[in-house]
Amino acid sequence: MNKIQAEIQSNVKRIVSGIPQGVRLVAVSKYNSNDRIQAAYSVGQRFFGESRAQELVPKAQSLPKDIAWHFIGHLQTNKVKNIVPYVSCIESVDSFRLLSEINKQAMKINKVIPCLLQFHIAVEETKFGFDIDECEQMLLSDDYKELKNVSIIGVMGMASITNDIDYIRKEFRQIKQIYTKIKANHFADDDKFSEISMGMTHDYQIAIEEGSTIVRVGSGIFGERMYDN
Ligand SMILES: *Cc1c(COP(=O)(O)O)cnc(C)c1O
Repeated sequence: MNKIQAEIQSNVKRIVSGIPQGVRLVAVSKYNSNDRIQAAYSVGQRFFGESRAQELVPKAQSLPKDIAWHFIGHLQTNKVKNIVPYVSCIESVDSFRLLSEINKQAMKINKVIPCLLQFHIAVEETKFGFDIDECEQMLLSDDYKELKNVSIIGVMGMASITNDIDYIRKEFRQIKQIYTKIKANHFADDDKFSEISMGMTHDYQIAIEEGSTIVRVGSGIFGERMYDN
């Protein structure tokens, strides 16, 4: 085993032992090789996150079948078909059009796909996500109620990229408030709707303090990503 693999293993162990029971660690393995994923897998990590369809599919085909793959990136409708056989959760649902396509492709292979609704909180212009009114309209619509092959299990969001901890905390509170509102208005009797995915390498501890149930940690496990290899 090389040095980076040993580091990955100690990072996973340290993070897992530092997060409370009931919070799940998704190891964000985008841009990282199968060897590195195997290193995390060998110390018990089973949830991995990928943000590109063309990367998730070959990894899922070649790595152990008991890995639960979370799709966390912006998803184009024409890529849904490719990933649906392999994902255990799509965290980045940001439109009815996308949800409807996931439903259609899942139906073809007799699956029900757990999904999270992604909300736009951070100030960055380019971030994808619902706004709350748009989302509630969808949840009330007859078109939504016809979807039988998707199961909405919670919300996902990202904080702004800033060193201002109070600001980050405020944004996580906003995500939690959105969760609470949607739960009360649309999923009060549905125990499956219970997840809040928020928190990454630099802010997952704050996210947990603010109610996160899923943290998505990449560079804190695998090191800084090399986007060009
Ligand atoms: C890349 C990515 C992460 C992980 O980011 P790190 O800062 O490396 O922990 C988490 N969530 C999403 C949606 C991402 O795209």
